[in-house]
Amino acid sequence: MISVLFSGDPDKRSQYGDAVSKAAKAAGLQLRLSLDPAEVAPEVVEYLIYDGSGPVQDFTPFTRLRGVMNLWAGVEAVLRCPAPPDLQIARMIEPGLTEGMRDYVIGHVMRHHLDVDRYIGTEPITEWEVTFPPLARNRTVGILGIGTLGADCAAHLAGLGFNVLGWSRSAKEIAGVTCLSGDQGLEDLIAAAEILVLLLPHTAETERVLNADRLAALPEGACIVNAGRGPLIDHDALLAALDRGHIRHATMDVFDVEPLPPEHPYWSHPKVTVTPHIASVTRPETASEAIVANIRRDQAGQPMLGIVQRTRGY
Ligand code: NAP
Repeated sequence: MISVLFSGDPDKRSQYGDAVSKAAKAAGLQLRLSLDPAEVAPEVVEYLIYDGSGPVQDFTPFTRLRGVMNLWAGVEAVLRCPAPPDLQIARMIEPGLTEGMRDYVIGHVMRHHLDVDRYIGTEPITEWEVTFPPLARNRTVGILGIGTLGADCAAHLAGLGFNVLGWSRSAKEIAGVTCLSGDQGLEDLIAAAEILVLLLPHTAETERVLNADRLAALPEGACIVNAGRGPLIDHDALLAALDRGHIRHATMDVFDVEPLPPEHPYWSHPKVTVTPHIASVTRPETASEAIVANIRRDQAGQPMLGIVQRTRGY
């Protein structure tokens, strides 16, 4: 029997208990699943299902641990936990999280592409307007971060006809998407992106990647959708760029401090849409299947999917 401890949000214990047991049964894997750290001695546990709101925030007592399954795609919290340097940590890769992000990003890109806001809550239009939005194929969308989530969004936006540019650390190939990397790749993407989507992790290298200079280098009237992490953006510079009209609108799902404090200027800014970190979420059913699949891989001597590289920070 493989010993697994769920140490996520205590309110989700029964939900994950059912979903992990169901996934293990379907996969023919015999697990002893504990839902509370008080139920099991730490030195017995082989796999730990973790999120930042769970009771375990130090992995060092878990001396038999083979892997930590992070329930979130973002790994800031799990990397703060004391742990042996060679402990495998897998970030969450599961279809529910990916599909949710796709829906959010496509929805907000389409909103900015079609300038939907222009026709919401307006006074009666007396002079009938004949301004048509461009076709998707005449609109360039740039995506910073084309990993699991960004690549899926890029492929689907390209499928809708958009001219999609994506940027990552390593060179990539995604059908229908122009994939860029390196400093020049970033500057080329920024210069072209009429709608800019951020889906990077927050690391020492990505912090404030969207700074004042790059905001100024975006095309006039560009829109921004940040579903990655708050610290990717220099917020004072963004507010200034919105106020001078260079940036048309910013949809912001993630912030330096969450919940976003009530006094933050984003709340009342007419060109900012605040969503409360709801772009996507891990879904217990599909996440449990991904967790069980990763345990099976590890038990079979195969590398787990989504292993975090501590030195890179993601
Ligand atoms: P991922 O698969 O690790 O992808 C990260 C992407 O960023 C990769 O393409 C990576 O390049 C690129 N990248 C990282 N550092 C870079 C650098 N210094 N320069 C250039 N590119 C860099 O992660 P994911 O699963 O797609 O998730 C992305 C992020 O989305 C998470 O870290 C999290 O912060 C955020 N997120 C937000 C929500 C929400 O609800 N708002 C939900 C889930 C996730 P390589 O491909 O070359 O490694």
